[in-house]
Amino acid sequence: MKKNDLIELTIEDISTEGLGIGHAEGMAVFVKDTVIGDRLLARITAVRKNLAYARPEELLSPGACRVPAPCPQARRCGGCQIQEMDYAAQLAFKEKKVRGSLERIGGFKEIPMEPVMGMEEPFRYRNKAQFPVGTDREGNLTAGFYAGRTHSIIDHHDCLLGAEENREILETVLDHMRRYGIPAYNEETGKGLVRHVMTRKGFGTGQIMVCIVMNGTAMEAEEELADRLMEIPGVCSVIADVNRERTNVIMGKELRVIRGRDVIEDTIGDLRYRISPLSFYQVNPAQTEKLYGTVLEFADLQGTETVWDLYCGTGTISLFLARRAKSVIGVEIIPEAVRDAQKNAELNGIGNARFLTGRAEDAAPEIYRSGKENADVVVVDPPRKGCAASLLETILLMRPGKIVYVSCDPATLARDLKVLCAGGYELRRVRSCDMFPQTVHVETVCLLSKLHEAKHHIEVKVDMDELDLTSAEAKATYKEIQDWVQEKYGFHVTNLNIAQVKQKHGIIERENYNKPKSEDIKQPGCPEEKVEAIEDALRYFQMI
Ligand code: SAH
Repeated sequence: MKKNDLIELTIEDISTEGLGIGHAEGMAVFVKDTVIGDRLLARITAVRKNLAYARPEELLSPGACRVPAPCPQARRCGGCQIQEMDYAAQLAFKEKKVRGSLERIGGFKEIPMEPVMGMEEPFRYRNKAQFPVGTDREGNLTAGFYAGRTHSIIDHHDCLLGAEENREILETVLDHMRRYGIPAYNEETGKGLVRHVMTRKGFGTGQIMVCIVMNGTAMEAEEELADRLMEIPGVCSVIADVNRERTNVIMGKELRVIRGRDVIEDTIGDLRYRISPLSFYQVNPAQTEKLYGTVLEFADLQGTETVWDLYCGTGTISLFLARRAKSVIGVEIIPEAVRDAQKNAELNGIGNARFLTGRAEDAAPEIYRSGKENADVVVVDPPRKGCAASLLETILLMRPGKIVYVSCDPATLARDLKVLCAGGYELRRVRSCDMFPQTVHVETVCLLSKLHEAKHHIEVKVDMDELDLTSAEAKATYKEIQDWVQEKYGFHVTNLNIAQVKQKHGIIERENYNKPKSEDIKQPGCPEEKVEAIEDALRYFQMI
């Protein structure tokens, strides 16, 4: 197989990044914009050692879950990956993605997974949009979205995931720029003024904030622009954000109100929240209510508990919990978000929630060492990279009765749950929530309960015994590993390859099983792709 070959294949599975996977000539072929069951002709775009990438050329017969993409830009835009999959299939894909991570990375066997919470209307759900502004080859102003994996801008003003008002807001800004000859920022030269237009809408209140991100402190006739924006129903805040750094980070730290307020408000359930431009706020409010409801259900508070809400943002989860707990301590790294959290507590008349600015991994050991406010329940909601290892250690030292883990990345979730469960917790409930329909992303809430000391002891002991059995043979045989690799990767690995990888991971080999008699005997090294495949198998069989 080589680049530009045209091949016929059937899509059998979907990768975690949303690419269709088929097989041809013993290779796994990843094809963008396809769904399970599609039979198609695809053009090979790149060939690696044991896999290839291709783009669809002609659909021969569509998979049962294929639907037409409602957005005309769906294929070019990097925002949505799975618009051509019907919604039930999207939910099934997400459930499988979470289950797969928990099994492969977390090593869990029996996973107490509950059905994914989906949306009734899986479009127009996003309350936040960030449109890059640029100039096309002909010198026209453009605004819209980055094409997948690039920084070239697709001119597109009406994203179907976002609020309908965005289109008018964006066109008003572009019109003003044209009228006054205001240049868009150019990433390559670092020159030009307008970088991004960011909008946020409180779906519960209808309030809209428009933030214009500029490579400078002011824009010509900006009050005139702000007045025009304020005429758009809902707009009540127009803000200039200064970002002069040559960076991919969208928002700068310096903010100035041009017209209206410096924050907007929103409601989730019967709580009211204020949101500053720089604070994190969940992007899908309809689903956020379900997500927080699940956190509350999993925490099952009786009113007597001390709860820690780590990575608390503007205190949204904290306030949900505070009404059922004795007290809540929220920890968050962004100072503006902490200020919002404090004001949000006041706004809702909640007096038993406190918020600290700092890194969760620093604050948690400090509170723990002070010995005053040990948590009965710990809630964590970290960014994609998951919890710092030192934070997990602190939690294990503290041994709260329950841990509720909210995650936007199944891989880091699985990694962290594995640590917590090895430290004496049991995974009791797993429920995903579709916060990001049409994309491959998924949010998951997990409940972990502390194992009673006796039970914990027994389980640890069993684990040790298993390890003592020179575990490899006790788990998967060489033949099983070979078959598994053949099935998944389509190539053969030798017993020697497997033995080498097992040794690399410290899995004890029986004496003289494929082992060189002396260290001097030269052994062929195991090729990297085979090492990876075998490691994947060892993880699958939970041997590493
Ligand atoms: N629970 C909140 C926010 C979750 S997003 C909500 O539902 O709205 C994750 C938050 O963690 C962000 O607000 C981010 O600013 C914050 N954060 C990132 N790294 C952190 C760290 N090391 N310690 C504390 N907070 C952190």
